Amino acid sequence: MRRNTEAAKRAAERREREDAADRLHEVVPTLGNLTLHIEERRTDKDEVEVSHTRRVVIDRAPAHFEMGCSDRRCDGGHDVTRSIMNALRAGETEFTGSDVCGGQSKHGPCKLEMHYAAVADYADAAE
Ligand SMILES: [Zn+2]
Repeated sequence: MRRNTEAAKRAAERREREDAADRLHEVVPTLGNLTLHIEERRTDKDEVEVSHTRRVVIDRAPAHFEMGCSDRRCDGGHDVTRSIMNALRAGETEFTGSDVCGGQSKHGPCKLEMHYAAVADYADAAE
């Protein structure tokens, strides 16, 4: 299956970029916990297509936040590394962001938009 091979290749390339990135705990040593709630919806519809929560394993996680598009026929994805890392470096405890997929799906440009809501806490933050 050609599509599956391409998807596997993209996933492998994504892992390479994650492996090449600095570790999250090196960049933001005070970070204690990070949870990302992720939703994807089509920009031409108001329905949430995909929703999941990801608890980031701080000890091992790369300082790289890239997710493949949830549309299996799409070659795009979301790289929100910069916005998330800026917020974490600034010590923000709750922040949100979004990214429109720039990929090509079966029927043309992909219209999936990813929204994330992040909750972080830091070692030296007051309880
Ligand atoms: Zn897409």
